[in-house]
Amino acid sequence: MPDYDYDLFVIGAGSGGTRAARVAAAHGARVAVAEEYRVGGTCVIRGCVPKKLLVYGAHFAEDLKDARRFGWKVPDLCEFDWSCLQANVLSEVDRINAAYTSTLESHGVEIINTRAVVTGPNSVRLADGREVTAERILIAVGARPAIPGCEGAEHGITSNEVFHLNAIPKRILIAGAGYIANEFAGIFNEFGSKVTLINRSDVILRGYDESMRDRLLQISMTKGIDFRFHAEFEGIEKGEDGCLTVRMSNHEPITVDMVLFATGRVPNTEGLGLESAGIEVDDKGAVPVDADSRSTCPSIYAVGDVTNRVQLTPVAIREGQAFADTVYGGKPTRVDYDCIPSAVFSHPPMAGVGLTEAQAKQKYGTVKVYLSDFRAMKNVLANRNERCLYKMVCEAETDVVIGLHMIGPDAPEILQAAAIAVKARLTKVAFDDTIALHPSMAEELVLMK
Ligand SMILES: Cc1cc2nc3c(=O)[nH]c(=O)nc-3n(C[C@H](O)[C@H](O)[C@H](O)COP(=O)(O)OP(=O)(O)OC[C@H]3O[C@@H](n4cnc5c(N)ncnc54)[C@H](O)[C@@H]3O)c2cc1C
Repeated sequence: MPDYDYDLFVIGAGSGGTRAARVAAAHGARVAVAEEYRVGGTCVIRGCVPKKLLVYGAHFAEDLKDARRFGWKVPDLCEFDWSCLQANVLSEVDRINAAYTSTLESHGVEIINTRAVVTGPNSVRLADGREVTAERILIAVGARPAIPGCEGAEHGITSNEVFHLNAIPKRILIAGAGYIANEFAGIFNEFGSKVTLINRSDVILRGYDESMRDRLLQISMTKGIDFRFHAEFEGIEKGEDGCLTVRMSNHEPITVDMVLFATGRVPNTEGLGLESAGIEVDDKGAVPVDADSRSTCPSIYAVGDVTNRVQLTPVAIREGQAFADTVYGGKPTRVDYDCIPSAVFSHPPMAGVGLTEAQAKQKYGTVKVYLSDFRAMKNVLANRNERCLYKMVCEAETDVVIGLHMIGPDAPEILQAAAIAVKARLTKVAFDDTIALHPSMAEELVLMK
């Protein structure tokens, strides 16, 4: 057998790469991981973690208003200090980055802080020109924000830059309609920015249940977010005063202080050298893999966003774990992609698992749908005219719950627990048999009509 420098060389120390590297090393493999930016990857450094902390920070705007109805004397002018929140968020990111680094090191994984590219089925070149060999290579390079090819696009920012702003913009235009666009629309709106969200089509959050999307749209508009649909970017011009004027199809131009592109994410395979190992990426730039995350080159595997299966952190982690357990742990494991819960951390948040009503009808013809449309007790006292909506979709004959969707305070927290029941294929009767926990919002799950 040839003498390789490593048993496993991982490219990318994000969610999938760090899990695979750590577990493979724990199973006894000699592992190195190359990272061109920061250990922790998108989720920890410029994704889920800092975003969720901003969502918490932003939501205080509503909590402070509501607090008055609960007897608290809150001054009319509550000052918000962005630099304070930003510094605290970034130092939490540093803390997690350090924790990830030390976990890898304590498992004997060599961390190489540089870009790496593939030069063959068993070889990788580092940025300093050094070539290293490995019996297997794991591609875990994630994805990056897509930027529209319009004139003046260089004046816009993406989620990569949004955590490092010097100040909160007075007016922001967000392009896109996916979860990242809607989450940042909510965040900036709560911070007091005038938010305009523009989208090519007239649908936000494609793939989520229609009733939840409609409810979020309605609540977001009530909160002051402007939506412009069928608006295709035509160009951005920067004025002498630094303001950005955005031209778009079907609408008047709009002048703002900042443009944020949240127009999708593309796998990070450009210039990665995959062709040197005979790997052809698909039309989206993703690495095609089989159920064991193995690419068309037998010594090269890929996990996480770069494979464009389901672009979520827990999925990348599962894929990394399954790869390491299968290849190094003698424990063949495959990821089950059925019933993956997901959330949109908007204001209010929404979350779902399983089939949407439309998907279920398409698959089964007839389905049973149960709804609960209610105002949370806290919102009633706060005079906040914002209704929650829960929807349960069941197979018509068996009553097995095949989809559960909700929008309202704490929806992601509630849904994660309920997703266990959906994954276990419990029926509506099992929900009904469970006595309500009162008073709570979650009790609506066992009281649905
Ligand atoms: C703003 C935002 C919010 C998000 N919110 C959520 C959420 O709430 N919940 C959720 O589940 N998911 C969320 N995601 C998605 C989640 O971050 C990704 O699905 C997850 O990080 C994918 O993990 P990964 O290991 O595939 O890639 P990543 O975590 O992106 O890691 C890839 C790593 O590879 C490095 N790299 C790339 N090329 C090279 C190279 N050639 N050499 C060396 N290193 C390289 C990169 O620097 C990066 O650190 C969010 C993403 C964004 C952008």
